Order: sequence, then structure tokens, then C-alpha cells
Amino acid sequence: MVEMSCEDHDRYAASSQFITHTVGRILKESMLESTPINTKGYESLLGLVENTAMDSFDLYYGLFMFNKNSLEMLEKLDLAFEDLRKQLIAWLHRVVRNQLIENGERLHQLDGSNSHALHRRAPNESALLHSSFASNNSSQSDENTKLKIAIVGFGNFGQFLAKTIVSQGHEVLAYSRSDYSDVARKLGVLYFSDVDDLCEQHPGVILLCTSIISTVKVLKSLPFQRLKRSTLFVDVLSVKEFPRNLFLQHLPHDFDVLCTHPMFGPESGKNGWKNLPFVYDKVRIGNEESRILRCYRFLDIFASEGCRMVEMSCAEHDRHAAGSQFVTHTTGRFLEKLRLKTTPINTKGYETLLSLVKNTGRDSFDLYYSLFLYNLNAMEQLERFDLAFESLKKQLFNRLHSIYRKQLFENEQ
Ligand code: NAP
Repeated sequence: MVEMSCEDHDRYAASSQFITHTVGRILKESMLESTPINTKGYESLLGLVENTAMDSFDLYYGLFMFNKNSLEMLEKLDLAFEDLRKQLIAWLHRVVRNQLIENGERLHQLDGSNSHALHRRAPNESALLHSSFASNNSSQSDENTKLKIAIVGFGNFGQFLAKTIVSQGHEVLAYSRSDYSDVARKLGVLYFSDVDDLCEQHPGVILLCTSIISTVKVLKSLPFQRLKRSTLFVDVLSVKEFPRNLFLQHLPHDFDVLCTHPMFGPESGKNGWKNLPFVYDKVRIGNEESRILRCYRFLDIFASEGCRMVEMSCAEHDRHAAGSQFVTHTTGRFLEKLRLKTTPINTKGYETLLSLVKNTGRDSFDLYYSLFLYNLNAMEQLERFDLAFESLKKQLFNRLHSIYRKQLFENEQ
């Protein structure tokens, strides 16, 4: 029971109710579909659509028309979405410009006298091509049930995974661009500030947890020749075909490749991983028993925590996930701009939105931007979202217009 003035009610309800219904209606028009690998966030959006779509348009129109705060909320939503779109386009612009300028400079160099530059290789590139592998003499960790896992990219997600992997008794090493030695010590992870030193430890598994955008750069900088011949390469990128192709193109043929996507993060997985989807594709695993076992042991880290293990090809993953993820993150990010606050009269739907904002807002903009950049359909989805919003506004304003016109004519008569 909440006693409050009607004025206070309308002020709170303009965000908790009107925004919730507006977002539900935009998403409904965007025609979201359930997938076999829905994330928690996406499921909550599907639920929101179902809940709000059942109400009549009259009800929604009433929330808009008879609450003096709703128009301001609608404008704020509009500005927030526009702002997010601008942010994405500005990033895109910068990346493409940089590439164009870099290409221009490269061409300029090639045009110049330095023709032998054509035959010169970057040091890491030559390492890639002429890898003289470290001898494969320490097979203890393969035979053991415990794995020696080197996490490359020890940011938000790398640390999140490390906690559970360490708790299961595996040996975890880490390397990142920034210095995380203190965090690593607290987590029981052996930290290396030099990637050569890390690889000299001959981990059985390299777990790539870097941002999607930096993957090419990071991969090319790894000294493969210092690793064991049979190393298992695993990634956790939120898009899958991109790293799969990259691995097959750049990794030595003897390396095993497992592409995965734990479809949860530090927020949605903070109370355990039970029933959370874990997608994997055994892209290339050697026939030897030890290699097959190692791959299963790695997968078992997630299976034993209760994850819903879903084996599917990288292409299929991208078809299902890239779209739903991008929509979920877009909704969370544009609502974040409104700085929504909890109210004394939160509806269930509004609470869904608040937790969505919390979940997606903690992820880096790099991550969101990659979902946009590496998803073929993202631009179309962004447009669909925009059109859905425009169409909803049109419906509201048309109704407003026709009522006012009707009143004018009636008065004249
Ligand atoms: P992120 O911003 O996508 O990645 C941060 C990581 O990338 C850090 O380790 C960072 O290293 C590294 N990095 C960024 N730019 C770099 C560069 N130019 N050179 C070298 N390293 C660079 O945030 P995240 O949440 O930690 O995600 C990591 C990966 O996990 C991503 O591929 C993401 O798609 C995937 N993933 C994330 C989630 C999630 O909920 N967050 C869920 C599933 C999968 P430093 O910190 O050392 O700078």
C-alpha cells in the first residue's frame, strides 16, 4: 500500500509506466523473435513485449495524454536514442577515417623509394609464418584433470571467468595490456606483464578474452613459437564467425581451436551460472585422446557450474545471437542515457528495464560497438528500431491531431 499525492504518482509513473510501455511498444514493432540461445536480458525484453502488447493502444494513449510529464519523457527518449545513434556513427566514422588515412600513408610509402618494404615482414608476422615450436615435452597438465589456462586480456570478463576457473582448482595465468598484477594476486592468478614469459610457461589452453576490436592486433602479437605444438586456443568473443575465421587464418595448423560464447556476464552471472547458455563450436580438435580430453575438460568448467551447454556452429550462433544481443544492448544503452531512477511505485516491467540498464551499462562501449560493427544486420536493426519509434510517435501525434481538429470543427459548428 503506497499513499502518495496524485501529483507525485504522475511524476513517478511518467517514467516507470510510460517509459516501460513505450519501450515495450517499440520492441514489439521491431518484431523480436525468440532464439535457442536467448540471454537473460533478451528474455526480459521478450517478456516486456508480451506484457505491454496485451494492453490496448487506448491505454497507452491515456498514459501519454493524461499525464502532463509524459511528453517530456517521450522527448527525452527521442534524444537519448538519437544520441546513441550519433555515438555509433561517430565511432564508425573515426575507424573508417583512420583506416583510410593509414592506407593512404602505406600507399605513399610504397610509392616511394622504399620498394623492398614490400618484402619486409613485421617481426610478429614472421613469427607467425616461421614458427619453430617449443618442444612438446611437458605433457603432465594434459594427463592431469586440471588444466593450465593462460587468459589473454584480463579486463572485466577475463577476471570474471578467472574467479570460477581458479575455484575449480585449475592453474590460471594471465596477461593483459594494462597491469593487473594486484587484481591477479587477489584472485590466485599468476600475472605476466610480458607475453613471451607467459607463453614460455607452456599453458595447455590460451583463453582469449580481449575486446573484439583488438582481436587481430592481439592475435598477431602472440609469440606462437614459444607455445607447445598442440596448444588449445579458445575465445569468448560475443561474435563467433569473426574469431573462427581469424583463428583458422592465423593460428598454426597444429593448434586446436574451440570457439565459445558464455552468454552471460559479471552482472547476469553474479549469482552462479546455473542454466545460463554457453555456446561452443569445436572448430578444430586433433584426434589424439589427450586433445579431445583437454577440450572436454575445458568445456566441463562451464558444464559443471550448471550452464546450459549448446553446441552450434559459429555461423548459426551469429544468426541467432548477434541480432538479439544488439537489440538488448541498444535498449539498455539508450535507456541508460535517461538516468532512470527507481521509484516507490516501480512496476515489474520498469524493474526489468532498470536491471537491463544495470546489466548492459557495465559493459564497455567497445563491446557494444563491436556488436554493431561485427553484426551484418546491426545497421538494419538500428533502423528498424528507429522506424518503430517513429511509427509509435506518429500514432500518438496523429491521434492528438485528430482530436484537436475534431474539437476545432465542433466548436465552429
Ligand atoms: P571489452 O571492452 O570487450 O574487452 C576488454 C579487454 O580487451 C581487456 O582485457 C583489454 O585489455 C583488452 N583490450 C582492449 N583494447 C585492447 C588493445 N588495443 N590491445 C590489447 N588489449 C586490448 O570488455 P570485456 O567485458 O572484458 O569483454 C572481453 C571479451 O569477452 C569480449 O570479446 C566480449 O565480447 C566477451 N564477452 C563479454 C561478456 C560480458 O558480459 N562482458 C560476455 C560474453 C563475452 P586491458 O584491460 O589490459 O586494457
